[in-house]
Amino acid sequence: MSEIFNRLKDAAGPNGSSQDAKEIAPHLEEWRGRIQGQSALLLKPATTEQVSAILSICHQTGTAIVPQGGNTGLVGGQIPLHGEVLLSLKRMNRIRGIDAGGMTMTVEAGVTLKETQDAAAAEQLLFPLSLGSEGSCTIGGNISTNAGGNHVLRYGMMRALVLGLEVVLADGHVLPMLKSLHKDNTGYDLKQLFIGAEGTLGIVTAAALRLFPRPTQMVTALTAVPSPNAALNLLGHMQAWTGGLLSSFELVSRPTLDLVLKNIPGTRDPLAAPSPWYVLMEVSGGAGASLEALTQSALEGAMAASLVSDAVVAQNQAQARSFWHMRETIAEAEKREGGSIKHDISVPVASIPAFIEEATAVVVKKFPGARPICFGHMGDGNLHFNFNAPVGSDAAFAAEWDEMQLTVHDIVKRYSGSISAEHGIGQMKRDVLPRYKSSEELDAMRALKHAFDPKNILNPGKTVPAVKRL
Ligand code: FAD
Ligand code: ZN
Repeated sequence: MSEIFNRLKDAAGPNGSSQDAKEIAPHLEEWRGRIQGQSALLLKPATTEQVSAILSICHQTGTAIVPQGGNTGLVGGQIPLHGEVLLSLKRMNRIRGIDAGGMTMTVEAGVTLKETQDAAAAEQLLFPLSLGSEGSCTIGGNISTNAGGNHVLRYGMMRALVLGLEVVLADGHVLPMLKSLHKDNTGYDLKQLFIGAEGTLGIVTAAALRLFPRPTQMVTALTAVPSPNAALNLLGHMQAWTGGLLSSFELVSRPTLDLVLKNIPGTRDPLAAPSPWYVLMEVSGGAGASLEALTQSALEGAMAASLVSDAVVAQNQAQARSFWHMRETIAEAEKREGGSIKHDISVPVASIPAFIEEATAVVVKKFPGARPICFGHMGDGNLHFNFNAPVGSDAAFAAEWDEMQLTVHDIVKRYSGSISAEHGIGQMKRDVLPRYKSSEELDAMRALKHAFDPKNILNPGKTVPAVKRL
């Protein structure tokens, strides 16, 4: 082993490796502290050539390797569970170029999402992906998880924002697909295979990204709505009234807001009277007629139709930021509150109200004391359908994990939904996937995995369930 380690360290170049347990430790624990990994070698290459040399050695020697970006993934995909070599892409952090006229940008895998957004903004352009973890997560991780977030309604998931990719294959060969083309129908669209593959098919080293005109007007409104059904009607109403200018439409339940108000210092109740549900929305566009006036009139119409009981349109950027701060700190508030069982699910948008009603009733009956924390990207049909432990019973609650997930996911299946809308499969959902995905789809996934990584060295054991032998 030490000979292989020495070759890998050489391949990673100067300052490109560490065997210091203290330095490696933070890479072995995921954000919620649920999984503890192990690895004796951290590689930190700074160039595509170094990644290529590393993988070529791994392939020759059958050495397993786990890629990692910002380590903010929520399904454990980035954690080496069985002593695999850890490959951090964070030193690949150069912005290779911005073509402002063509509205594209080429960045390396380790550039953070926030740095990417800021570099686009400096050119008066927009990179629209927006996540609570944007200060830490990386473009390589965003691509490998096909990240979603708060602007999917208008701009799509990461998959829709990638024009080209540079990928190092399991045997060290580089797939040079780093073109900034909107149209390219020369056969299979290979780059799409690596988007959402969670590091199981290749290592993303760089990407050509799609940029958008930066909206010059952005209106944020927080509305109180009586029910998810009213929120659904409000979504249609706002889209119709604004001609599709909604860029976010986030549903938040009152218990979720209460959790934020309790656990996140500096937050305060935004509206005069409590409401069972809220929608945080954003309307954005260019110069011309006032979007604030448009949003106000749309909301007045919504109030007249009893879709909304109260609303506040942010009067300045600070107020808009404070509304978004509440939305973006929900995950942190849940963590501070104690144990929780989370479901990142999607169902057809029109089924959201019925799903919430049915699934909440079933879970609270079956798991007495479980506290529903329901929020999410309603415009995308994606809910974070979570439950916090009854006060003081974190350990007992954790023991219910599998049973509760089974209960919720089985209901999701009946609604023709997905058990992972945006976080991926990683190691946490791998074993339950066969219950929810057809054996034909799983066989196709296994065939791809075998074709791209015949020695199973890339993030082994993640995402693709093994065949069950009877
Ligand atoms: P990591 O966690 O390091 O890795 C994630 C996966 O990608 C792993 O399987 C890893 O092996 C693989 N990988 C990483 N880099 C590469 C590479 N260069 N090549 C090949 N494989 C690679 N996600 C959403 O979609 N929407 C949200 O709204 C959202 N909000 C979040 C809020 C908080 C507070 C937190 C902590 C997380 C949130 N996430 C969200 C989840 C997470 O931030 C995303 O999945 C993000 O895309 C992961 O990026 P990362 O760089 O941290 O990747
Ligand atoms: Zn989300």
